[in-house]
Amino acid sequence: MSACQLLLEVLLAAALPGVASADWLERTEPIMGTRVYVQLWSQDAAKGNADIDAVMADMRRIDELMSHYKPHSQLSQINERANQEPVQVDKELFDLIKLSTHYSEITEGAFDITYASVGYLYNYPNHVHPTEAQIKDALPAVNYRNMRLDEAHHTVRFEHPGMRIDLGGIGKGYAVDRGIDILKARGVEHAVVTAGGDTRILGDHMGRPWLVAIRHPDNAQKVVTRIPLSDSAMSTSGDYERYFDEDGVRYHHIIDPRTGHSASKVRSATILAPTATQTDGMSKTAFVLGAEKTLEIINRMPEYDAVFVTPEGHVLYSDGLRPPSPRPQAPTPGAPTGKTRDSH
Ligand code: ADP
Ligand code: MG
Repeated sequence: MSACQLLLEVLLAAALPGVASADWLERTEPIMGTRVYVQLWSQDAAKGNADIDAVMADMRRIDELMSHYKPHSQLSQINERANQEPVQVDKELFDLIKLSTHYSEITEGAFDITYASVGYLYNYPNHVHPTEAQIKDALPAVNYRNMRLDEAHHTVRFEHPGMRIDLGGIGKGYAVDRGIDILKARGVEHAVVTAGGDTRILGDHMGRPWLVAIRHPDNAQKVVTRIPLSDSAMSTSGDYERYFDEDGVRYHHIIDPRTGHSASKVRSATILAPTATQTDGMSKTAFVLGAEKTLEIINRMPEYDAVFVTPEGHVLYSDGLRPPSPRPQAPTPGAPTGKTRDSH
């Protein structure tokens, strides 16, 4: 299970303003195969609890619509019938599938919801992975370009046999954004909503940013770095979330659409951006393309920042998170030359 491993910490415990009934409320519920966590600042506990209820109810609604585990969900209907005919779905689901292809485009195919055509052959809790022969058979069906999306009728049609999709790589980010929208519409000004590795923060914490910790890939108690965050989103993907090890190989839940194997170019990837749909859509990329290539993509998009932990344990940051580099100084005559060490 994708545990809610983000440690949300207050920068400084500030004194509460003098409103006796105002307080932080929080709740965790198991939804979408993961832990959904909501925390909000409320002047009235009954209203605050109703606000949390509304977010949880919407998460359940999204799960009913989009889960590939639920045979009656519209998404399962697509997987069952879109090989034979166009399958009509709600605009909301159609739009998220269409948006997924946008992330496929900007990640050069690293993010691809048709990965599921081979991804369904893995079962992490039961330590099951496909054979090379099974992968070879299933892999030609992985290609988002073979989904025909009809905007006018909200239909999805697969144009290659054996195709499947799953929204496990973007649905939680989307649900988190919906949760924040619901809270805003109900007048909430300070909140955190998390589902699995996807978090969005509304407002700040008593006038200061939240401090969000990125955990060490091999030790949930160890913090790699902390990032101050307000009014924005963050997703962390890790090879330690759903996995098993066999003969020295880690089989985990992020799949390279080009090979059908678990993608291992980084150990963890954290993406920052205004919305959780954006951060979720991008947090798988570095596993497939590698940290350097992904940093090139992230650094071209001003709304995004990223932190990657490489297999060697190095922590790499996007340009927006780097301290400004010191002004170049004229070399001191006679001083030894050489590479300066990267502080990261
Ligand atoms: P979490 O579920 O904790 O938010 P991630 O955001 O890292 O975790 O998403 C991992 C999920 O993404 C996998 O369980 C799977 O459903 C889906 N997935 C795996 N590989 C890909 C891929 N290459 N493209 C799109 N989705 C993927
Ligand atoms: Mg996610």
